[in-house]
Amino acid sequence: MNCGHKLSKMNVLILIVEDEKDIVKMLEYNLQKEGYRTVAVSNGEEVVRAAVQGQPDLILLDLMLPGMDGFAVCQELRKHGQTAAVPIIMLTAKSQEADKIVGLELGADDYVTKPFSPRELSARIKAVLRRSQRQRQTPEILRIGDLAIDFSRIRVTFKDKVVDLTAKEFELLKTLIQARGRVLSRDYLLDTVWGLDHATEIQTRTVDVHVTTLRKKIRAAAGHIITVKNYGYRFDSEG
Ligand code: CA
Repeated sequence: MNCGHKLSKMNVLILIVEDEKDIVKMLEYNLQKEGYRTVAVSNGEEVVRAAVQGQPDLILLDLMLPGMDGFAVCQELRKHGQTAAVPIIMLTAKSQEADKIVGLELGADDYVTKPFSPRELSARIKAVLRRSQRQRQTPEILRIGDLAIDFSRIRVTFKDKVVDLTAKEFELLKTLIQARGRVLSRDYLLDTVWGLDHATEIQTRTVDVHVTTLRKKIRAAAGHIITVKNYGYRFDSEG
């Protein structure tokens, strides 16, 4: 199954972090009605784990939470490689102007003041998703040091010499690069690159074998493919 990188609404997962049950219900109802998938947690301390597990496309983060407040949660999320890039919309009580500024400084992408209308929130969500999608969009040719990946011609060159990649190796590299900064599980890679959705242990090793070959072939850029032990891989464009 290859769904590329387009975010269709059906695939968009929103993590709701809110301790007021009525608000959670209202958010779930409205977001699901709009076609988003949702998952909710009520305690600040559960957020990072939930975000790593669920890999949400966006987090709605209430400021006042038991356990850990929204600011601390925001900082935690930004610290972890796997959650650092997830857009965050903070939900703040009305007229906490100073809080909004602190929130944005800590890495929230936007904030919505309570009480908010579903329409207003929906518009903010769309805007933030659009922005984050644009940021992650892959250029036609991506250069990392001496390595150039040409997505339209399905070609990789190293020091201007073509690197001989198989279709699966190219697809694997492309998938990792398009999700750069995020950890992709081996199961996800098997599904996306190989179209296998219920993988056996042996099939899971296929991913490792391909990554090993890929690293050898792309040489100087091999260090960008980070192994996340017992889980999967991440493409690190900074390293
Ligand atoms: Ca609250």
